[in-house]
Amino acid sequence: MKVIIVGGVAGGASCAARLRRLDENAEITMYERSGYISYANCGLPYYIGEVITDKEELTLQTPESFYDRFRVNAKVRHEVVDIDADNKTVTVKNLETGEEFKDNYDKLVLSPGAKAVKPNISGIDGENIFTLRTVEDTLRIYDHVKKSGAQSATVIGGGFVGLEAAENLRHLGLNVTLIEAAEQVLAILDGDMVSQVHALFRENGIKLLLGSGVAGFENNDGKTVCKLADGNEISSDMVLLAIGVAPDTSLAQKAGLKTGIKGSIVVNDKMETSVDDIYAVGDAVEIEHFITKQKALISLAGPANKQGRIAADNIAGGDSRYKGTQGTSVIKLFDMTAAATGINERTAKSLGIEFEKIILSPLSHAGYYPGGNVMTIKLLFEKNSQKILGAQIVGYDGVDKRIDVIATAIRAEMKVGDLAELELAYAPPYSSAKDPVNMAGFIAQNLISGKVKHFYYEDLTALSKDEDAFLLDTRTPFEYKQGHADGFVNIPVDELRERIDEIPADKRIYVMCQSGLRSYVATRILSNLGYDCYNFAGGYRFYSIIENEKLASKSAYSCGMDK
Ligand code: FAD
Repeated sequence: MKVIIVGGVAGGASCAARLRRLDENAEITMYERSGYISYANCGLPYYIGEVITDKEELTLQTPESFYDRFRVNAKVRHEVVDIDADNKTVTVKNLETGEEFKDNYDKLVLSPGAKAVKPNISGIDGENIFTLRTVEDTLRIYDHVKKSGAQSATVIGGGFVGLEAAENLRHLGLNVTLIEAAEQVLAILDGDMVSQVHALFRENGIKLLLGSGVAGFENNDGKTVCKLADGNEISSDMVLLAIGVAPDTSLAQKAGLKTGIKGSIVVNDKMETSVDDIYAVGDAVEIEHFITKQKALISLAGPANKQGRIAADNIAGGDSRYKGTQGTSVIKLFDMTAAATGINERTAKSLGIEFEKIILSPLSHAGYYPGGNVMTIKLLFEKNSQKILGAQIVGYDGVDKRIDVIATAIRAEMKVGDLAELELAYAPPYSSAKDPVNMAGFIAQNLISGKVKHFYYEDLTALSKDEDAFLLDTRTPFEYKQGHADGFVNIPVDELRERIDEIPADKRIYVMCQSGLRSYVATRILSNLGYDCYNFAGGYRFYSIIENEKLASKSAYSCGMDK
């Protein structure tokens, strides 16, 4: 059997290696357009920031090492330019010599990935405007910074690549402006959860311009000027464009393969395309979302690797199936970590899914053991089925582990209450006897059973005008004096029983504390005394992060512009 693989990185290389492990006799050739195979896309931003200093570290295999281990003919700087599915041949262009030749296959696997989106706006091809996808792109950006002595950079796009690039350019000492057309960066997070990320970027000296579309570029005396749609201009020594990716599927389209969203390749759960003996995997394919069951594009290394393995299994005569992607992802942002799995509130609302949400701010490990940090967890579950729909976590230590536990629970289609029962590893340096994931389960159980009712940040404006609502802050007078939400009256939780006369029995009681724990205790005291009461999800800490960020974003936009 002769197998040709197009694209030699995440999906392609993993397919090739798996196939060899299953079949010692298959003849496997892998064509890769760039100069490297099996490179670490995910590590590229860290080379720019000199966190990874040895460029060899970026490539996990060379064509030689891949041949030695797997007997795969990996041809770099070779682009597959045409597929003749009827005759089962591909046309390949040697990019060093310009020579073209044909190669035949029994099975063809396409893993061409996704290319950086470049909008058709004036000046887009300017010489100091970069995109980041390959090792070559990375070296080009790094060399430019070093050789030109660039002092400033504008990063356009606040997705994973944009944020990682901004952080790493800042790490190199550049003045960095990050422009994002949406009102927030990191679309995997909801607006309330992302405030912490915005604040962190500003604290680290990155100028954040949200809700700003770029209309074009101009070269002005060696500087690149980004012209914003609102008439403002940002001038810097270089621009990194990271406004998203689109499936790199012109080859597949030319060959007549069935395509879906944004020209992605349509595949079934065996990774077979619409054309016999052609498989496709990775960023180039349309997948089914594990939660919504809708068609989607999700560009992540884990799914690409798994799909490559599944395609190899099926080529070797097995029966492996891909069960969908849930979008589990994690990102390092300076010393912070943000992670998500499943869907967020924005998506749930847009799909009309009836959900409940909980927001909690537990410590990463036992409070009495030094070094614990607060993380914010937001978790959504479906109202009727109680199935977990998704989670977002922003914090420091232990964010990755909690998101992975919840991601696993989602895969196992567990109900949210099951999180309370998970037996998770505990010793003081790592967790608490009630792990944050267990805590999320307890809170959900209380919500479902009606023991506790919640209210949310978005309810506050209406509540402040509601004459039948009594707003109660149960923190200490000192904490209250440091800052509190408008209209809230301070009665510390430990004084509640003695001062119960101050709580009007004919009103609904809305209770807030710092993290949501003391207010939970207060709502239980009040409920047991017959009050109708509600606990604020996320606590004052969460509230103040959102409020502070609102103020910061307004002032950043008004004073951070080069007119
Ligand atoms: P790729 O790995 O992109 O490989 C496709 C290859 O195909 C390319 O090298 C391309 O040159 C080659 N090719 C295309 N067309 C042809 C052709 N006609 N002939 C020959 N060769 C061709 N994902 C995560 O999960 N976590 C992360 O932290 C993360 N960080 C990332 C950081 C960056 C800077 C980038 C760019 C991506 C990151 N990703 C991350 C995404 C992840 O790298 C991709 O989802 C994954 O690599 C997709 O695998 P793939 O095989 O589909 O495509």
